[in-house]
Parts: sequence; structure tokens; C-alpha cells
Amino acid sequence: MSLAQAVSTSDLNLSSRAIAYFSMEIALSPQLPTYSGGLGMLAGDTLRSAADTSAPVVAISLVYRRGYFRQQLSEVGQQSETDVPWTPDQLPAAGPTVTLHLQDREIHLRAWRFDVIGTTGHIVPVFLLDSDLDANDAWDRKLTDHLYGGDSYYRLCQEAVLGLGGIALLRALGVKPEVYHMNEGHASLLTIGLLEERLNGRSLSEVTDADRDAIRQQCVFTTHTPVPAGHDQFGLDQMNQVLGTDRAAAIEAAGGLHNGLLNMTYLALCLSRYVNGVAMQHGKVSQYMFPEYKVHSITNGVHAATWLSPSFQELLDAEIPEWRIDNRYFRSVYGIDPARISAAHVKNKQRLFAWIARRTGHYFNPAVLTLGFARRVATYKRAGLLLHDPERLCALAEKIGGLQIIYAGKAHPADNAAKALIRDVYSAAAKLNSDSLKIYYVENYDWELGAMLTQGVDVWVNTPRRPYEASGTSGMKAALNGVPSLSILDGWWIEGCAENSTGWAIENGETEELEANSLYNKLEKSIAPLWSNPNAWARIQQHCIGMNGTFFNTQRMLSQYITNAYFPTGPSHFTVEAHADSDEGYSLTENAFVPAIK
Ligand SMILES: *Cc1c(COP(=O)(O)O)cnc(C)c1O
Repeated sequence: MSLAQAVSTSDLNLSSRAIAYFSMEIALSPQLPTYSGGLGMLAGDTLRSAADTSAPVVAISLVYRRGYFRQQLSEVGQQSETDVPWTPDQLPAAGPTVTLHLQDREIHLRAWRFDVIGTTGHIVPVFLLDSDLDANDAWDRKLTDHLYGGDSYYRLCQEAVLGLGGIALLRALGVKPEVYHMNEGHASLLTIGLLEERLNGRSLSEVTDADRDAIRQQCVFTTHTPVPAGHDQFGLDQMNQVLGTDRAAAIEAAGGLHNGLLNMTYLALCLSRYVNGVAMQHGKVSQYMFPEYKVHSITNGVHAATWLSPSFQELLDAEIPEWRIDNRYFRSVYGIDPARISAAHVKNKQRLFAWIARRTGHYFNPAVLTLGFARRVATYKRAGLLLHDPERLCALAEKIGGLQIIYAGKAHPADNAAKALIRDVYSAAAKLNSDSLKIYYVENYDWELGAMLTQGVDVWVNTPRRPYEASGTSGMKAALNGVPSLSILDGWWIEGCAENSTGWAIENGETEELEANSLYNKLEKSIAPLWSNPNAWARIQQHCIGMNGTFFNTQRMLSQYITNAYFPTGPSHFTVEAHADSDEGYSLTENAFVPAIK
């Protein structure tokens, strides 16, 4: 595949781009290892919808010459990692080189341009910052090599490249956006870059409230997780060392320190005029976490053309071709014979099984009910809940005429607890696999496998510990392809679940045991009987697309960002008071977020 485009940077009308989107990771192409998981996918899907709708967006990220990583799993499920080196030389260079003053040195940066091209040809250029230049010393040249690798020093330097380097690059390219969108706190140093620019050479010690307010009016911040590890923090010594005492003082004066640490979430919060979580529930949880700031909600989506299987694209192109420009046409899937939807799904299932057989030599039976569970392996996502009661699971599989469960997911290289969870699934599979139950873990979950799985299984399973799943988007990909979910009521599923129509809710329980019980009950009493009735199942598949595909897409999501966050039309956004004494009745205990009992 050729990534290079014939368009020159000067043809892109950069000076009229009103929105600058900053993200630590962006999934741009299945061939490029510039993302790790959901955050990067969301960023990529957002930009793909921006291109489709001709939104005046430019984006900034890092090039990651050695990628995230490729996952290998041993016979017992022990994960090992290898780099995914690539050379950006196939992309057009963005032109100017910029310098970033860090510590006692200058870091020189260039950028490569990746064009996200929309259905009508509109281009959203993404500039990937790269420090691998002769002018830099050996260590600095590796600064844009690894996504989420290295220590906190490496990470802070990378965030400086993204935020401060990104602003410098935009200016060198002649881009002067009206809105800067920080996709997660990693990008929040851009606020300091904007302050520096505003002071125009004067010391940051002279920053006034009015200066900060001017920056705030331009900034939008999306927070993506209530999990504490997802909120970057750095020691004050490190902040001073890397950023210098002037910037450090400006960060402190703005309110970017929290509990004696530089906190990237707080830095973004205190210098943004609009803050949001990524599903309605996550907005509430974030409001509870940050009562001093007003937190809105804009529920995530997925880019339909990216995640719809070829068989569904063919069907929809024939019946409602306008879906490509306007996703609201998914609603008219109700005018399509449900049997044709089922037939498109059968193709996806066969395609997935053929793909797995080709790669691994493992064969699945297309006639058997198949569950999919694939996501970043993190303890709160509880990959093991489905296997909580092995005896019950085996008995259930036999009773309903067979069950296949396909797992996939990468653990962060430094997360040993998560790596142990993968080994647990392996050992359960070794013990439980039988004629009626087949459990299999596919290695190296990535874009391609993610698409295959969400299109090809029969039911998508998600079992996070509440309230830690901020949104989740894989279930949305499944829904678009007529695949219902069986999930804990957390994140997007609170909005997406219509029981027995778009899927099933695992009932909230006080213990894992109760939740696992509910999961098994739903499988046995609700799902299996419907599965054995093709007409009823086809209706469910139709509802998934008609009800959820219509809404949980990035086209709807981006339009909400445009009207609510980027260019709000009403005054309410500026006058709503912070919910300091919110009476929502929520409480965050150490491992569960549950509505307080009144
Ligand atoms: C969609 C996707 C994700 C995010 O899915 P979640 O539901 O948030 O876990 C992560 N990784 C890949 C490869 C994906 O395609």
C-alpha cells in the first residue's frame, strides 16, 4: 500500500483550519503501529469522520518509529513483545523543522504528514512529530520511537514534544486554529505552549488571569478514563528539570498541580473552557472526580466505513447507499429483509474462522454459538469473569449444544498482573476444552483482528468492573455488524442496551460471583433460546444496526463536538455552575462505583 499522496502541503488550505486535534496516539492505517488501543482508534475514527464531513481539522501526534509492540504468546500464554519498526519516509515531509527548548538543550523536530481522506476527497492532515534528526543527540533521536514505552522522564519529554512541539509546528505551517482539542491529558502541555506564544518573549512569571482566560477560551479537553493510572502524573523535580522553572511556575499558578504532583488532567481541566467524558455515565463519574469543573458528556462512536465488514458494506450500498455520507440512514435497515442481514453475518463468521484457521491451525465450527472477548488486558476489564465457574460453564455449553469463546488482547509490557490474566485464560482453556466447549486466545490483537472479531462472532462480551469502563467502542463495532452485546452496564452499554433487542445486560452485583451468575443465566435462559430461533435472532441483528449503528458512530459524535464543544451556539455552556455539591448520590469506593443507597 502506498501511503504517500500527491497533494502538496500548500494545497491543504492550512491557514483556514479552525480545529487542531492533539492525541498521543492515532490509529491511521492497519499498516502503521502508531496506536495501542481504544484511545488511538477513537482518534483515528474521529479524524476519518472529520474528513468525511469536510470539517476543517488538522491533527498532531508522534511518529513512533518502533511502534507499540507485536504480541507473542507462548504455549502457556506468556506474553513477549517485539518492536514494530517502520520508516515514515514513504510519507510526505511536512516542511519546516521546529525546535523545542527543554531542560538545557534544544530538541529539533520535523513532521511527516499522513492524509486522512474522506468520502468526498476532503483531507484531514495529521502531522507526526519526529525527533530522529542528525542535529539531536543520540538519546533525543529516540524520543519519538516508542508509544507508552520508557520511564516517566521519557514520557514527560514526549508529552512536551506533543504539546509544545505541536504548537510550534502548527505555527511554522501557518495554522492558527480557533479551537485546540486535547484528546486525553497527554496533550495538555499545549496550553503552556499557547501561553508562551501569547506572552511573546516575556517571562511566564508575568502571566495574568486574563492571559489564562484567553487560552481557556480556545481549549477543549476530553478525559477518557476514571482509572487512576490513566491520569499522567510527574514529580515536581522532574517537572522543573524537564520543563524548566518558568513553565513549572506557570503550571502551578494555573492549577496544574494536584497532591504535590504535576497532573496532566488537572492542567487540561484548569485551562479548558469545555470538558467532557466519553459516555453519559463517564461524564457523571468524571464530574464526581473533578467537582470544581463542569464536566459534560459526549458519547463515543466508531467510524462506520472502517468497521463494517465487506458483506455489510455490499448489502448497505445496495439498499441505502447514502449511509456513506450520512450514518443516520442506518435507521432504514428496518426496510431490509432480516434474513439478508443474517446472511451477511454468516459470511463474516466464516471469514473470521478461515482467518484464524489460516494463522493458527485452530478450527471453529460455524454452526456453534460463538462469543468474542477482545480488549486491552487490564485487571478492571476482568477477562476471567466468563470463566468464573468452570463447572457451570461446561455444563451450560453442553446443555445449549456447544459454545465457542474467542479471546484476544495485549497486556502493557510492564503490567505483570495483566500478563498473568492471559496465562489464566490459557490454563482454563487447557482444562476445559471439550467437545462442547472451545476456548481459544488469538495472539496480537490489533486493528485487523479487532475488525474480524467484532464482525464475525455471534455475541460480543464485556465484563468490566464498574465504573471503570469509560465508554468502550468495540461493542459499537459489533453492533454496526449486527452483533449484539452481553455486557456489564457500564460505559456506552448503559445507553446502548435494549434487553433482548440489542443485547443483554449482566446484572449489577455486589460480588464477581453474582455477576458471573447473571452472565451464565443470560446465556442459558435468554441468549441460547433466541439463538436457536433464526428469525428471532435476525431481528436482533437488525436492531443492533438500526438502533445502535445509527447513533454510536463518530459522525454523530463529531457533530456533537462541533455544536457543543468547538463552536457552541447557546450560552448555557458558559453559565452552568460546577457541581461542587452534586447530589447525584454516587460514591467511589476503592474498587466499585455504585449509586449510594439513600
Ligand atoms: C476498538 C478497539 C479497541 C477499543 O475497544 P474497547 O471496547 O474500548 O476495548 C482497542 N483495540 C483495538 C485493536 C480496537 O479495534
